[in-house]
Formats: sequence, structure tokens, C-alpha cells
Amino acid sequence: MENKKILILGAGYTGLAAAIELNKSKVETHIVEKSDKAGGLSQTITLSDIKFELGPHIYFDKDTEVTAFWRDLVGDKFKSYERNNRIFYNGKFIKSPLSVWDTLFKLGPFSVISIIWSFIIAKIFRKRPINSAEDWVKANFGNQLFERFFKVYNEKIWGIKSSEISPNWAGQRIKSSLTTMVVKSLKKEHEFIIKTFDFPDGGSESIYNAQLNILNKAENVHLKYNCVATKISPSGSGFIVDFSNGEKGIYFSNIISSIHLSDLSKTLVGFPEVALNTLNNAINKLMYRNLVLVNLVFHKNEVKNFKEHWIDIHDPSITALRVTNFGNYNFGLSNSEKSGVGLEYNCFESEDIWTMSDEKIIEIALADLNKMGLIQDKPIDFSVIKLAKAYPIYFNAFEKQTEAIFSELIKIKGLELAGRNSMYKWNNMHHSVKTGILAARNCLGSKNNLFEVKGMVSIGKDSD
Ligand SMILES: Cc1cc2nc3c(=O)[nH]c(=O)nc-3n(C[C@H](O)[C@H](O)[C@H](O)COP(=O)(O)OP(=O)(O)OC[C@H]3O[C@@H](n4cnc5c(N)ncnc54)[C@H](O)[C@@H]3O)c2cc1C
Repeated sequence: MENKKILILGAGYTGLAAAIELNKSKVETHIVEKSDKAGGLSQTITLSDIKFELGPHIYFDKDTEVTAFWRDLVGDKFKSYERNNRIFYNGKFIKSPLSVWDTLFKLGPFSVISIIWSFIIAKIFRKRPINSAEDWVKANFGNQLFERFFKVYNEKIWGIKSSEISPNWAGQRIKSSLTTMVVKSLKKEHEFIIKTFDFPDGGSESIYNAQLNILNKAENVHLKYNCVATKISPSGSGFIVDFSNGEKGIYFSNIISSIHLSDLSKTLVGFPEVALNTLNNAINKLMYRNLVLVNLVFHKNEVKNFKEHWIDIHDPSITALRVTNFGNYNFGLSNSEKSGVGLEYNCFESEDIWTMSDEKIIEIALADLNKMGLIQDKPIDFSVIKLAKAYPIYFNAFEKQTEAIFSELIKIKGLELAGRNSMYKWNNMHHSVKTGILAARNCLGSKNNLFEVKGMVSIGKDSD
């Protein structure tokens, strides 16, 4: 341990979990964070005293180690809630988790018969090979369910056609068959979908603030904000690193990266074992979806028709992907006269909304809320947050590129890739925490394969 000096790139959930784990062994640990705040994508933000997450964040995990990790940090504040959602489709709100009777009533008998018929046709006659998410959903659920529920929503998420999305995406996400879903739904057993989730009182910031409290008190841990590594070179069995704050030539025995692969590869200089051209070519082929978050503060009585945690929007006439009522989460503000509503818009850099003024974006958001009949009033306050590269896209054959990338980076001994960005994983928080913990243990001698950690919660009984 004496020779260990570890550098963590990024203070999101991955970097913080790694630091907490390393702190247990009192190893010298340095964390550099590009922004002026910890928490990354799991940040809680405050607007006019009202709290929002960066999109709805629910905590759900079957891995007892990660759940215990969160509970250790905030104790009783980590509470369970019954999930309450709706789907907006064809101008109607449909219950979610789907109830057969509600869906039948909202869609009407003609639609339901055509859905069942197309499912039967798919099961009996569809023999085409499965090369895309579209093929996968059509083969397992039929053309009608694909067209009505999967296509619009997923193409809003990804910005590319479902025929260009990897079948792995759908296969990982949906683990139940239609028959199981219908039977369970009729029996009112929604085991195929998450029925309850956890959420810490006060939001995610109560978790990362608890981590920061521990780390800030630890003499062996050093956290720098507004700082990045600018050059990483090999040195004996470790690394020599330069930083943007002017510090140069600092030795580290190990590095844990939770930052985007392109940002990491830019810093690598002088690793003869790595084919940098191959690495950078493959990294350049990766695709990401940006996220525009609109946060609006309303008088509480203006949002009285919005009892859900969030509503998934499958209706093509609405631009937003999802709308969340943060007033229905426990941020400890139950007496407030105000409520926070957030809308998500996924886009590429080339799309208008990415470069539009905040005022124009707010107009789109208010028009969306209006069309859905949710809120008609003007907000008391608003903010627009733009997150670049928020979602790694599982385009067809993305595995070929990630394989090329990881087979090069794996050659750098002492470098651990963990979390969403460095593993190119559309992941959940538990994946970031788990891989952060395992990366820390690997730096101390363990040999965990982080790529075996499952990345997301799926819809299905066998969900990870
Ligand atoms: C809209 C949305 C909703 C979500 N909902 C859920 C949910 O309900 N449940 C769930 O479990 N998960 C959810 N997630 C996923 C969850 O937010 C992520 O899994 C998790 O926050 C990722 O943590 P991370 O530390 O791996 O990465 P990040 O949070 O991205 O952290 C990386 C950190 O590195 C910093 N950084 C970047 N570049 C550098 C650099 N060069 N040097 C130093 N620092 C750098 C960043 O500023 C950031 O702080 C959601 C994600 C989104 C986008």
C-alpha cells in the first residue's frame, strides 16, 4: 500500500465510489474534476429554492453491496417509493406499468385486435434474422407494438432509426415476453417492471454530499475541482501526469478513469504498447446523444393534474421525451408553494434545439405541456441545462468499435476504466458505483472484470 498513489479522473458517482473504497485502506488518492461540482449526471440542482435532478433519477438495484453502500451513506433517508408513471400516446394517458384493461380501454378494441394479430403473425411467420432493435422488437412483440410504442420513443432517444440500433439494446432492456407481461398484468403482478424504487430524502445530493463529507475529512484524499489531467505518460510501473492547474510530472501508481474515452485518449502520450491510431479511429466512430434539460418552477396548484413521478412521451406530436414532476419526489420541500417540472429533449449537436436560445427552448417546453393538457400557466422561474454526450448510442455494430478500443486500453497496466463514460455504457447509477468500487479494489491488487458488471435495469423478471 505504501507505494500506492491513485489518481481518479472525474467526481461523478463512479469516481466518488472509488475514492470512498480507497479511503478504507487509507491509500493516497487524488481526484480531479473538470467542473466546479461533484455528482456528474447524478447532480441535484436548485432553482428558486426548488430541487431538480438531471432528469428523473430512481435508485433500483438487486446488488446488495451497492444498496448497502447508499444506505451506509444516508441511512434512513434512503426510502422506498411506489412507482407512479403514465405513458402519453395518441393524445391519451395510459397507466404505466401497463394495465391490460386500461390499455384496452385507451387504445380501443380495433387497435388491441391488430396488436394481438400482429403478435401472432410475428410468432408464427417471422423468420428473418435479427440484425437490429427493430427486428428484435418486431420478432418478439409484433409490428404493431413496435410502431406504436417502441419506434417513436426510441428514435427520440437515439436520433437514429430503430433499424440502425443494435438488437442488444432491446434485448438487454426488455426481458419479458408479451405473453408473460399480459398474464402478469391480468393477475396484477407487475414483476416484469420495477414497481418500487428507492430515493434518498433531499435527492442525490444528500448521497454525494455524504461522500464528500467523508472524503474532505480524510487526510489521504485530495479533491481538485476545475482541473483535468492534460498529459498521462508511462513511468516504470506507474504514470507521470501533468494537470491543467500547472502541476507537472506527478507520479501515480494507478489511474481510475470515469471520463469520456475521447478525453482520456487525448492525454495519453508515449505508450508503445498501444496502437494510438487504431484507438483514436475507433473512438472517433462512437456516437453520442446530447441532452437538453428544461427545468420549470410553477405555483404548486398549477401542477395539480400531474400526480406521477414522470410521464414517458410516445406521442410524435410532442417534442419532449419525458416530463417529470420533481414535486412528487421527497426533496424535503413538502411545505413549499412551488413545484419543479422538468422536460428532457435528446438531440445531436447538429439539431436546432442544441443551439437555440433558452427562451425559444422554454417556448417549446411550455407548448408541449400545454398540448398534453398538463400545465397552462407561465413558470415563475426556469433554467435550461445542456449536457453534451449524455447518452452513448448503441448503434448497430458499436461492439466492433468498443472491442477495438478496450483491447488497446487494456494493454495499459494500472489503468482502470469504470462507469458510464469510460466503459461506453448506457448504465444506471448502481453500475457506476459498483465499477467504481471494483476499480478501486483492482488498484489494490484484486482482479475483477468490470465488464462483467451489468449496466442497466431491464424491463423483465430477470432484470439486473
Ligand atoms: C436523464 C438521465 C436519467 C437517468 N436516470 C437514472 C435513473 O433513474 N437511475 C439510475 O440508476 N441511473 C440513471 N441515470 C444514469 C446515471 O446518471 C449515471 O449512471 C451516473 O450518474 C454516471 O456516473 P459516472 O460517475 O459514471 O459518470 P458522470 O456522472 O458522467 O461523471 C463523470 C464526471 O467526470 C467529470 N469529467 C468529465 N471530463 C473530465 C475530465 N477530463 N477530467 C476530470 N473530470 C472530468 C464530469 O464533470 C463528471 O463530474 C440517468 C442518466 C441520465 C442522463
